[in-house]
Amino acid sequence: MQSSIMIVCEQSEGHILAVTHELLTCADFLAAESCAGTTAVLPGNIADVEPLPGANLLVINSPTLREYTGEGWEKAVLLAAEQIKPDIIIIAHTSSGYDYAPRVAARLDGGCITSVTGVELSPQGVRYIRSGFHGKLEMLYSSGKSPLVITVLPGAFKGAAKPAPPGNITYMDADIQLQQTSELHFKTADQTNAELEVADVVIAAGKGIGKVENLELIRQMAARFKHSAIAGSRVVCDNGWLEYNAQVGMTGKTVTPLLYVACGISGSMQHIAGMKDSKTIVSINRDPDAAIFKHSDICIIEDLEKFIPVFLQQEEGSAV
Ligand SMILES: Cc1cc2nc3c(=O)[nH]c(=O)nc-3n(C[C@H](O)[C@H](O)[C@H](O)COP(=O)(O)OP(=O)(O)OC[C@H]3O[C@@H](n4cnc5c(N)ncnc54)[C@H](O)[C@@H]3O)c2cc1C
Repeated sequence: MQSSIMIVCEQSEGHILAVTHELLTCADFLAAESCAGTTAVLPGNIADVEPLPGANLLVINSPTLREYTGEGWEKAVLLAAEQIKPDIIIIAHTSSGYDYAPRVAARLDGGCITSVTGVELSPQGVRYIRSGFHGKLEMLYSSGKSPLVITVLPGAFKGAAKPAPPGNITYMDADIQLQQTSELHFKTADQTNAELEVADVVIAAGKGIGKVENLELIRQMAARFKHSAIAGSRVVCDNGWLEYNAQVGMTGKTVTPLLYVACGISGSMQHIAGMKDSKTIVSINRDPDAAIFKHSDICIIEDLEKFIPVFLQQEEGSAV
């Protein structure tokens, strides 16, 4: 039986974002297996949009979809699913995607596999790959439930989707009422951190620093190098220990310093995406199996609260 695939486009201010093409690549792969057709859905409040290659596009317009809300996107995607009746719904694993995807799966009584980094065909059917245990294991998942909602990690399906003629666009006016959400104000974060972008040496703090007071160790270490700056993993920024403009990674900054020192950072794929091209990577982690070590030139297996004070003592008075 022919199945159907639905992707949900990522947009910003009405423009379809590049990650949507990765969702199409993932859909191509699954479609080859199941001979499925793909429909793209775009929630928003959009008058005019470019067509997508190889997929018809359904734009769901409502004034309440002007800005992202979990409730609004959930309702828009459910409305589209009612029409399209998909077997698989593909959503980007972005801050918004992983917010509404499980809601959609629960409402449809379907399956949900998040953070998918690959797809594998086996005699038993399609297996979805995701990493686990802070990137130490690659795990295979399948689902007996339909529809299946998957969220796909940005960057995992890079590469062009099959060349295909542009699909049709249908605009649908929907009356999406928000009952649990009221919009107060959207504030754009300050993205600039010039120091970090040009630094030769970046000392980065992860959750492993344990407490905000330990940022002082990171600052003192950075002070030992010329043209240095400090950065953090997302957890550190989420905790409010550093501003978001210091976050390195997939949803933060990409840095390529001469030296990147990762202190108490596990090495999630999302963090690695922002620092992997640094010239020399040094990692301090007390877990010998930490995934960050796979990407490091120098691996220091030690408690950072022990190692950094010793380093600072050794380097006392000498700027590197
Ligand atoms: C859509 C999406 C986008 C994301 N974007 C980003 C992004 O841009 N950047 C980013 O960083 N993350 C991002 N993340 C989050 C990412 O998946 C990880 O959760 C995050 O990177 C983990 O941060 P961490 O390594 O600081 O913490 P953890 O994964 O908790 O790792 C802490 C590490 O510290 C070590 N440790 C603990 N105590 C000590 C000690 N005393 N001494 C030495 N080592 C110690 C532990 O062994 C562990 O390896 C994103 C996630 C999603 C879903």
